[in-house]
Amino acid sequence: MTLFDSTSFEGHEGVHAFHDEKTGLKSIIAVHSTARGPAAGGCRMWPYASADLALEDALRLSRAMSYKNAMADLELGGGKSVIIGDSRTQKTPALFEAFGRAVESLGGKYWTAEDVGVSPADLAHAAKTTRYVAGLEGAAASSGDPSPVTAEGVFRGIRLCVERKLGRDLAGVTVALQGVGHVGGYLAEKLHAAGARLVITDVNAEALARVAEATGAQVVAPAAIFEVPCDVFAPCALGGAVNAETLLRIKAPVIAGAANNQLAHPDVGRALHERGVLYAPDYVINGGGIINVAAEIRALGEGAAFDAQWVESKLARLMQTLEEVLDRAAAEKRPTQDVANEIARARIAGAEHARAA
Ligand code: NAD
Repeated sequence: MTLFDSTSFEGHEGVHAFHDEKTGLKSIIAVHSTARGPAAGGCRMWPYASADLALEDALRLSRAMSYKNAMADLELGGGKSVIIGDSRTQKTPALFEAFGRAVESLGGKYWTAEDVGVSPADLAHAAKTTRYVAGLEGAAASSGDPSPVTAEGVFRGIRLCVERKLGRDLAGVTVALQGVGHVGGYLAEKLHAAGARLVITDVNAEALARVAEATGAQVVAPAAIFEVPCDVFAPCALGGAVNAETLLRIKAPVIAGAANNQLAHPDVGRALHERGVLYAPDYVINGGGIINVAAEIRALGEGAAFDAQWVESKLARLMQTLEEVLDRAAAEKRPTQDVANEIARARIAGAEHARAA
């Protein structure tokens, strides 16, 4: 594969490869767009089988961050970094210091944060060598766990979709919730408080029992969640929950949840549209988490403290954007994710024009 032929390449501004002999660092930082502001997106440490696969992931994930940040109406572009290596055996403080130097060398074009395989403790090592890192613990600017904010956004998004599709509020509505981890746990509490009936599943028996106890939810086996007669299916576990096979089993007229990459393929979104299912595009409805991180980047940039009010104003704006997506999709009779992608691209292009002018 060459970089420019990759299907994940979409006009990326810069793709930077870093190697540090002493620490063994092999990292790629992909900057998709800085039109709306510095590119922001987490750092993933993963034992990629080849550099091509690492590159592919960095390209795909950085583009996704541009779209997500644009839909959250943040003054941030999209970027992502990957470190090639096994996070269980190959992490050292020196490796993350070398990674920090790599981030610093881009002069603020890219801000890093946590992703799969990278913890706040690792980022603390990176912070010794770069200013451009969010997700640190214990500072006035620190944003902490993003899950409650993500869950609040998903809760409001579900309420909006139910109003639109079913013309009612959440009292008495049945929600099938797949995954009651960080976000799913908070979401279950909010839905329960709003009077929804919950059917939940998880592969983690302990988390499942805790949430069932707190909310009175009915528990089902992981494979059975797709068959549950319900009003809303809320994927809050891993990606790909809605695929060609589960699509035929899911009974819900609304699909709205926190998980990233819920649709196994864009065709699945089109099939949902044809079946009359209202799907809340994942990267819009789950934007609360990145809003929380953006508040930290903003606070660090201004030398100020974390501002929860600012987070709330962005969350309210995110819901307006979700409404815009639903309105346009309904008016134009098109799949919601196609409309969301179009709005994201238009927002990025608008910022590019403004920058060029
Ligand atoms: P988490 O790991 O805390 O929770 C995921 C839960 O799903 C776990 O309890 C896990 O046991 C369960 N699970 C895994 N496989 C399952 C299966 N096959 N069936 C049922 N349950 C299964 O993660 P999280 O932070 O709650 O994030 C959940 C999803 O939301 C992820 O896709 C994540 O990428 C996305 N997301 C999270 C945030 C955030 O703020 N944490 C922000 C945006 C998007």
